[in-house]
Amino acid sequence: MIGTTLGVLQSAQQPDWPDPDTLATVVDLLGELPPLTPLAESDALRARLAAAARGEALLLQGGHCAEEFGERALGEAESTATTLRQMAEIVSYGAAVPVVPLGRMAGQYAKPRSKPTEERDGVELPAYRGDSVNGLGFTAADRAADPWRMMTAYGTAARTLDRIRLLPGADGDTSGLPLHVSHEALLLDYEYPLIRTDEATGRRWAGSGHFVWIGERTRQLDGGHVQFAARIANPVGVKVGPTATADELLALTEILDPEGEPGRLTFITRMGAEAIREVLPGLVEKVTASGSPVLWVSDPMHGNTRVGPGGRKTRLLDDITAEIRAFVQIHRELGTHPGGLHLELTGAHVTECVGGTDPVSLDDLGLRYTTACDPRLNRGQALDMAFLAADLWRPAR
Ligand code: PEP
Ligand code: MN
Repeated sequence: MIGTTLGVLQSAQQPDWPDPDTLATVVDLLGELPPLTPLAESDALRARLAAAARGEALLLQGGHCAEEFGERALGEAESTATTLRQMAEIVSYGAAVPVVPLGRMAGQYAKPRSKPTEERDGVELPAYRGDSVNGLGFTAADRAADPWRMMTAYGTAARTLDRIRLLPGADGDTSGLPLHVSHEALLLDYEYPLIRTDEATGRRWAGSGHFVWIGERTRQLDGGHVQFAARIANPVGVKVGPTATADELLALTEILDPEGEPGRLTFITRMGAEAIREVLPGLVEKVTASGSPVLWVSDPMHGNTRVGPGGRKTRLLDDITAEIRAFVQIHRELGTHPGGLHLELTGAHVTECVGGTDPVSLDDLGLRYTTACDPRLNRGQALDMAFLAADLWRPAR
C-alpha cells in the first residue's frame, strides 16, 4: 500500500495483498514498533564502509538467499553468523587488511521473482515471495499473500539479532555486536513503516537493518525502491547486473550519494564469470572518472546460477572463483579498489553448490538441498572462498 499510495512511482515486485484493511492495520502496527537497528550502529557501519571505499578495508557480506521463519532457521542463522565471522578472520589475517563482516540476515525475508506465478504438474499458483509475504509450500493457502507475515518478519529479525548479539565478539571488540546486518529492501510496505527520525538531528533512517540494498530487478531510476533508498541515512547498496549502463550508474550515484560521501553507496556487481570481463571495466572506469567514491563489491553468485539434475538450481565453485578472480584483476588493472565480496552461504552442511575441497558433486545435490530460494555455499565451501580471498587480496611482496 505504502509503495503504491505514495503513488507517483511504480514499485516493481510488490505482492498483491488481498485485503487493504488488514494491510493498513499491519502497517500501522509496524509504525509503532521500536527500530530493529539504531541509527548510531548504521553510522558506525558506514564509517567502516568508508574505509573500504578508500581502499583501506574489505567488506565481507554473506548469508542466506532467503531467510525463513521458525526455530530451525534461528539456529542456522547463528551458525551462518559464526561462519561469516571466521571467514572475516581468515581474510583479515591472510590479506593483512581489516575486514567488515556484514550479515545477509535478520531481515532477508522478501524475494524478487522472475515470474509472478509458479507451475507444477499443470497447477499454477502465485510464486513464493519470501516468508514475509507468503509460504513456500505449494498450496493455494500457503501462497496467498498475508500482511500479518510482516509482523512475524519483524519478530524473527529481532530474535535473530538477539542471537547474533550473544555470539562471542572479536578480540578487542567491545561493541557487543559481532556483525552488522543487511537485507534487500524489497517489500516497501514493510520498509516504509520502519523508517524512523532521529529527534536530535532530524535524520531519517531505515530501522529494519543496518544496511539495505536494492536488487537488480528493482533498481529503476524512476522506481519506488531507488526513491526509498534516497530518503534514508543508512549505507545502501545497489546490485549491478550485466545489462547496467554507465549512465544508469552515474544517475544512481547522483540520486543516492549526491554529496559523494565514502561509505554511503556500494555497487554490488553480479555479472557472471563470462560477462564480467566485457562489462565491468567500462562501468568502473566511468564511475571512477566522475569522482564518485562508491565501494565496489563482487557478488559472484547471482550471475552464475545453473539448472542441475532434477531441475534444481545450482552454482559451480569454479564459476564463482572465476568471477572473483576477474573482479580483483579488473580493479587492479584500473587502479581501483576491489572492495570485497557478497556471498550466499550458510553455516549448515548443505549440498546446494558444486565443488570445494570437500567436494559436492552434481549427483550429491539431492542429499541436503534445503534452501528456500537460491543455492548457498555450505560452511566448508564458504571457508574455501575465504582462503581464496585471503590469497587474492594478499599484498604483493
Ligand atoms: C539476491 O541477492 O538474492 C538477488 C535476487 O539478487 P539480484 O537482485 O542481484 O538478482
Ligand atoms: Mn539469491
